[in-house]
Amino acid sequence: MSRFWTDKIAALDPYVPGEQPQDKQYIKLNTNESPYGPSPKAIAAMQEQVTEKLRLYPDPNCQVLKNAIAKSYAVEPNQVFVGNGSDEVLALAFMGYFAGGKPLAFADITYSFYKVYANLYGITPDIVPLNDEFDIVPSDYDNLDVSGIVITNPNAPTGKALPLADIEHILKANPDIVVLVDEAYVDFGAQSATTLVNQYPNLIVSQTLSKSRALAGIRVGYAIAHPDLIEGLERLKNSFNSYPIDRIALAGATAAVEDEAYLADICKRTVTTRDWTVTELEKLGFEVLPSATNFVFVTHPDKAAESLYLGLKEQGILVRYFGNKPRIGNFLRITIGTDAEMAALVTALKNF
Ligand code: PMP
Repeated sequence: MSRFWTDKIAALDPYVPGEQPQDKQYIKLNTNESPYGPSPKAIAAMQEQVTEKLRLYPDPNCQVLKNAIAKSYAVEPNQVFVGNGSDEVLALAFMGYFAGGKPLAFADITYSFYKVYANLYGITPDIVPLNDEFDIVPSDYDNLDVSGIVITNPNAPTGKALPLADIEHILKANPDIVVLVDEAYVDFGAQSATTLVNQYPNLIVSQTLSKSRALAGIRVGYAIAHPDLIEGLERLKNSFNSYPIDRIALAGATAAVEDEAYLADICKRTVTTRDWTVTELEKLGFEVLPSATNFVFVTHPDKAAESLYLGLKEQGILVRYFGNKPRIGNFLRITIGTDAEMAALVTALKNF
């Protein structure tokens, strides 16, 4: 607290990311990073950028990356927006499309940054609870009086996915407001709504290179939408920071998006390891929600999540524990690591 803080700063409630401890080597299963390195082609492309050319600004329009993303999703480059992580894409979308006075609808259990952005921009959340099975119920979004809707698909931290028909239901019921579908984890097993952007001019789909493309360290995310919605995001971005993507990230992200075979391979490996992990956790008595992501959301009938979290940490394994958050306080979110890491997790859990 400083006497120079404005009321605005004092009223903020910043996002708290998962621990990134620097003190010792943990098996990190707490922030949904990929256990695999990025595409070797992406690494090579980034290394090529480390030259005297770094004295020059990057392309503010990220054209090569937009072209690669557009090709990959069969859309036009003017339907692609690029940001510094999908967090930045979300931040700009909230600022531009949801800060219009009416509340913004999103689930009670979902990505906790939405509340933070809402608070930052003075947006009132209209919280739509998940049902008892932790599912989003599309008809709950039928008759809302809101400025917009955010759906995370698959949802986090539950890991559960909605079929595309349910996303379409929500889009059809809300043609006059923007529906943002956050697909940070979609590559691990859900259907992407990017195929719907030409049909629904109110749809923004955001994705990230941080998870399935194993590039959390370079901070690149993107949105795909109707060109007019994208132009709006560009106007905001160019009123805030013209160069959010540096030369190294731009080259690495472009090569990563182009390397679809590598993406498919590491997603497949993650899904195989996820299936094994689910079986092992169920053998230990855990209830595991069906996951379409690179993490599992689990609870145990006899062991408190807090003691499991602390016990694992003591054994050098970090998982995400949600403290006393309503409904999910007794759950853990465990990222799918390598086979060896998940075997270590199972062994550590057996120690209880
Ligand atoms: N959306 C969801 C649902 C997430 O879990 C995350 C990762 N914390 C993000 C968006 C943001 O990811 P990034 O900024 O790394 O693209």
